[in-house]
Amino acid sequence: MEYPKLRMYIDGQWIDRGKDGEDVINPATGKVLGRLPYATTADLDRALAAADKGFKEWRKVSPYDRSKVLRKAAELLRERREAIAIGLTMDQGKPIAEARIEVAAAPDHIDWYAEEGRRTYGRIIPGRADNIMQFAKREPIGPVAAFTPWNFPMNQAVRKVAAALAAGCSIILKGPEETPSACVALVQAFHDAGVPAGVVNLVFGVPAKISEYLIPSPVIRKISFTGSVPVGKHLASMAGKYMKRATMELGGHSPVLIFDDVDPAKVVSMIGPFKYRNAGQVCISPTRFYVHEAVHDKFLAGFLEYTKSLKVGDGLDAATRMGPMANPRRIDAMETFVADAAKQGAKVETGGKRIGNQGYFFEPTVMTDVPDTARAMTEEPFGPVALFQRFSSFDDAMARANRLPFGLASYAFAKSAKTVADLSAQIDSGMISINHIGLAQPETPFGGIKDSGYGHEGGIEGLDAYLATKFVTQVGA
Ligand code: NAD
Repeated sequence: MEYPKLRMYIDGQWIDRGKDGEDVINPATGKVLGRLPYATTADLDRALAAADKGFKEWRKVSPYDRSKVLRKAAELLRERREAIAIGLTMDQGKPIAEARIEVAAAPDHIDWYAEEGRRTYGRIIPGRADNIMQFAKREPIGPVAAFTPWNFPMNQAVRKVAAALAAGCSIILKGPEETPSACVALVQAFHDAGVPAGVVNLVFGVPAKISEYLIPSPVIRKISFTGSVPVGKHLASMAGKYMKRATMELGGHSPVLIFDDVDPAKVVSMIGPFKYRNAGQVCISPTRFYVHEAVHDKFLAGFLEYTKSLKVGDGLDAATRMGPMANPRRIDAMETFVADAAKQGAKVETGGKRIGNQGYFFEPTVMTDVPDTARAMTEEPFGPVALFQRFSSFDDAMARANRLPFGLASYAFAKSAKTVADLSAQIDSGMISINHIGLAQPETPFGGIKDSGYGHEGGIEGLDAYLATKFVTQVGA
């Protein structure tokens, strides 16, 4: 299977050479897949100039015509789905079935924004005298600098690029250096769909060097970042210093509340596969399992049976259900979390160890009676680790769920109508999915509160993030 050629894209031109660069590694084999070029300072200057020029041109294209270009890019991605999915599995590691789902979702996101961009309505506000006309217009905010992570290389990028373009903005995308192929394919689709030069630009490099160069530039009017809380706080402080609008999609530590009136086997069938999706390297991954004491043992038994049945291996093998960790940092982190929790009294029910020494495989892991003081209970594990505690009452469960500074996603399973209503009222998170798994669709808002960031992607909020309001008041001369 062929891994695609890695290139940057600036002002409508593909660039396959840089002064520096890095090897891209297949996390299933540890072998080099290709060489990724890095942007030089001159490249970044050209990208900024291109984004400035591209914005001036693209903002004048009508939303109707912009939507046609977006829809064309979506069609091209649909046609290219299989090749893109293979590249994504090769550099990111997830099973090919998951990569296909991720790539298939990308055109849906683009189509949503293509349509929603045509509905950037303003409003007329009654004046205080009958000859005054006053209205609020929605305008594209300007050139965007976007930074996307390695866990969903296609989907984290497409939500930013499609929303920015639909709103009439230009964008400089810094893709993930370790998993770059999907971003290259995404930008290729927009290029082939006829996006004017300068409207979309793709660069790679040392992340801190690029963000420190782009964010202060007067050309850039909006920052969008998906990644860890510490980096998000750093970039948000830079955005504040230079007065740039910002969207921050940061980490989470999702609680799952399982009440005593549910069928434990049914809950396992929903939450089990979701826990180990992308080897748990998902910002909304279910992590802290708070299970009512009446169903704890039964639910645990079913969850363990599911966990032990998972076939871990190279994502290109169709039988694989969980791939490797995307990079060796995650192996180190998992080993540290497990050792620390075990030392503090947690029981490792299954897993807990690295698998082999080729590639970055880690066993699907379940730990029970994990104390609140364990590091894994307070820091985002971002891996295939499920942490269990028992609870005895609704208030007890809610207090545990809300105890961390994270506030991204939550999950709950309960039959009682009162419990369901109380859950959505009292949970301290940006999203909650009750009795099914239903987050991150193009038409629904996705975003966190507290340390998990601010702003949304998806839904009408996702487009709003790239629009500014201009108030106009006028009287006839
Ligand atoms: P990290 O904190 O070093 O990096 C996180 C992301 O930020 C990466 O994509 C990286 O390229 C980028 N980044 C780092 N410094 C940057 C800077 N100064 N400017 C711009 N971008 C910068 O950690 P990591 O080892 O790559 O990832 C592990 C952690 O990141 C996880 O524990 C998880 O919390 C978080 N993460 C979250 C998401 C998400 O979807 N919210 C995705 C990937 C990683």
